[in-house]
Amino acid sequence: MPDPAASWQATVLTLFPEMFPGTLGFSLAGKALGEERWRLETVDIRDFGLGRHAQVDDTPAGGGAGMVLRADVLGAALDASVSAGDARPRIYLSPRGRPLTQERVRELAAGPGIVLLCGRFEGVDERVIEGRGLEEVSLGDFVLSGGEPAALALLDAVIRLLPGVMGAQASGEDESFEAGLLEYPHFTRPQVWEGREIPQILTSGDHGKVATWRREQAERLTRERRPDLWQKIHKDGRITD
Ligand code: SAH
Repeated sequence: MPDPAASWQATVLTLFPEMFPGTLGFSLAGKALGEERWRLETVDIRDFGLGRHAQVDDTPAGGGAGMVLRADVLGAALDASVSAGDARPRIYLSPRGRPLTQERVRELAAGPGIVLLCGRFEGVDERVIEGRGLEEVSLGDFVLSGGEPAALALLDAVIRLLPGVMGAQASGEDESFEAGLLEYPHFTRPQVWEGREIPQILTSGDHGKVATWRREQAERLTRERRPDLWQKIHKDGRITD
């Protein structure tokens, strides 16, 4: 059993703490949470709201639709939950952020944990991002209605890499993106399904040929589907031809 004081710690600031652990209460992440391989603390932003109605948002300066989460409310929520010496990265989930990559996920898994701020409405007052040194991270070029599903997805990606979480550690290593390539196709029984057969090489028992076939398939898929990734691994010198 891991030492709970040393386990990876996630703190999530949200207006909807009941959305957590959500999907992370199941399967690998849920089991690991039960075993204290990671810990989860949610902070209800509403607890730091102002006045009788615990107001957390206000109308955008300069006009326009929607509401903006207030810097003073979010600043107080962050200060109450993250101490000055806390070395964990502080991330605001935001469509304007740097897109999340497997490389960043691996870095986060190797660190002490994470502090995540989930936005809602039009987002957060810019001054809290600057004033509290928040790093903006995006899940992709689309807009969610709130940061919570993004936080769940980011945490899922990190937690599966924590020590002892994935049964066969090897299955993390040749997956999509780990070698800069998309993953090769998988097959399992039955041998024939609706007239479609498993590629013969995979049932030949020749491990060398299987490895070569998988590598070729991974390269073909990456070339066809993600020319951006393909170019990058050529540039990095990971593939030369
Ligand atoms: N007005 C903002 C979008 C706000 S969406 C804009 O145009 O940039 C409301 C909240 O959802 C954001 O504050 C953010 O926390 C979250 N969110 C939306 N899309 C996201 C994405 N692609 N990645 C991460 N978080 C996202």
